[in-house]
Amino acid sequence: IFILAIESSCDETSASVIADGKVLNNIVATQSVHEKYGGVVPELASRAHQENIIPVVQEAILSAGITKDQLSAVAFTRGPGLLGSLLVGVSFAKSFAFSLGIPLIEVNHMQAHILAHFIDDPKPNFPFICLTVSGGHTQLVLVKSHLDMQVIGETRDDAVGEAFDKTAKLLGLPYPGGPLIDKHAKDGNPKAFAFPITRMPELDYSFSGIKTAVLYFLRDQLQENPKFIEENLADLCASIQYSLIEMLLIKLKKAVKETRVSEIAIAGGVSANSGLRESLTTLAAQIGWNLYIPKFEYCTDNAAMIAMAAHYKYLKGEFSTLDVAPLAKMKL
Ligand code: ATP
Ligand code: MG
Ligand code: FE
Repeated sequence: IFILAIESSCDETSASVIADGKVLNNIVATQSVHEKYGGVVPELASRAHQENIIPVVQEAILSAGITKDQLSAVAFTRGPGLLGSLLVGVSFAKSFAFSLGIPLIEVNHMQAHILAHFIDDPKPNFPFICLTVSGGHTQLVLVKSHLDMQVIGETRDDAVGEAFDKTAKLLGLPYPGGPLIDKHAKDGNPKAFAFPITRMPELDYSFSGIKTAVLYFLRDQLQENPKFIEENLADLCASIQYSLIEMLLIKLKKAVKETRVSEIAIAGGVSANSGLRESLTTLAAQIGWNLYIPKFEYCTDNAAMIAMAAHYKYLKGEFSTLDVAPLAKMKL
């Protein structure tokens, strides 16, 4: 069984072919047009998807060593994401499946981020807790089976990836700033500056406060020393990253305590963060968690994770009809 999967929810156009649950490839075209705007421009993203989608799909099919007639289904990201971006993937998937006379499989992008853990070994055992940390979401999810997941905590405002990107922007770093904060933080002192650790009720998060705190802190410092940022870049990055990671870990520990589940996974773009990976690895060794961290290429947006989700849906016969429409917001 070969399934073609397409991801186009944000600014990555990606395609992947999966054969009986084994991912054969993961072709990703990243859009660089957004860099100079300091964030993803929806209309430009949509246009870039239109340019990229055919070559990306063609490469996935070619490198799988098959022809399109051997496909058994076409899967796509239905949401959540940018409507104009999703629309390109959805429309393409629909017409491709229709022309080949094969089923369509819709995939929830956030569920797919979690199912990226089933691409390679070691795979987490059910039930496990997944901390999903991406550009648009921050969620604690209790994963009961491949397709049965429950959100037990989430952010009430910004996502943690957004907090990385927005504070990076305040430091004058280009978009997306998350990976750059990570890079500079390696040479800095995480205790150099104390940024707030916001405490929310239950298992919820809030990441909008740190952005404002950094804004005012920088404004005051720059008044006294216009070179404050360049002279302290590494310490600033390390201190911001420290606060963000602390907030993530406090609630994760609480979730473990409440659920008594100690199989722990992380997913989403921010799980590429080396500080988060290190802190989690240390913590897991101390407390005795089984920790699962995906490969870098499966952390940020990719079609391999969509293909993995599609595999499980195919096995259950969960198909979509041709009138399916994208959803900018979509619950797990
Ligand atoms: P969502 O999945 O919620 O729809 P998205 O698809 O835009 O959002 P991802 O592609 O999963 O999000 O992740 C992108 C985010 O990950 C960006 O905010 C980016 O800055 C962040 N990110 C990537 N690498 C790192 C890193 N090393 N350190 C911190 N943040 C990172
Ligand atoms: Mg992206
Ligand atoms: Fe994503």
